[in-house]
Amino acid sequence: MSRVLVIEDEESIRRVLRLNLEGRNYQVSEAPNAAEGLRQLGEFKPSIVILDLGLPDKNGLEVLKEIREWSTVPIIVLTVNDNEKTKVELLEAGADDYITKPFGPLELLARIHVALRHRGVEVDSTPVFESGNLKVDIPSRTVLKDGQPVHLTATEMNLLKALIRGGGQVVHQDHVLKEVWGPGALDNPHYLRIYIGLLRKKLEANPTTPRHILTEPGVGYRLV
Ligand code: CA
Repeated sequence: MSRVLVIEDEESIRRVLRLNLEGRNYQVSEAPNAAEGLRQLGEFKPSIVILDLGLPDKNGLEVLKEIREWSTVPIIVLTVNDNEKTKVELLEAGADDYITKPFGPLELLARIHVALRHRGVEVDSTPVFESGNLKVDIPSRTVLKDGQPVHLTATEMNLLKALIRGGGQVVHQDHVLKEVWGPGALDNPHYLRIYIGLLRKKLEANPTTPRHILTEPGVGYRLV
């Protein structure tokens, strides 16, 4: 699964990007300023970076140059300035592409696709998870079990999406807690146990011997 790091101080833009990217099976991490973005670059190890030029703590162009000192990660720059000089400067500093605000999320998605393809990254943007008797269409939030629709609450759906994003690998319980309930939930791991139980009841043929939502003791959960 491709990971996208969004370094952007405008929360509304980050939210729109997250919604659109996650709906297409990208894993998304957000940073509201340059310092946090640079920190996450090392930690989150993104497949691609979306970088806003106007950040509160540093000019995006400086951030771009800083990243290029040690990383070849594809970078798409968001800019409000579409004059030629700026564009040339960005490309010379190592940006793979740029997009002028305001932009439609679909255009950015297309550019992400192209940038990743240029780097030979295989793009898995199938927004559907299918395994055995279970089928989940993420954009339409449709879940089918044995061909029959299953109704999930918003929290259950977010939890299922977090597990799907794991791509068959173990997802650490702290990661799921943060993604679904926010960082404040780290002290309440029982949320997760309760909701895993609810999901199993709805999705598993036999909730006590789950075939899809597996527990990795002491670590987290894995969706297969
Ligand atoms: Ca900005």
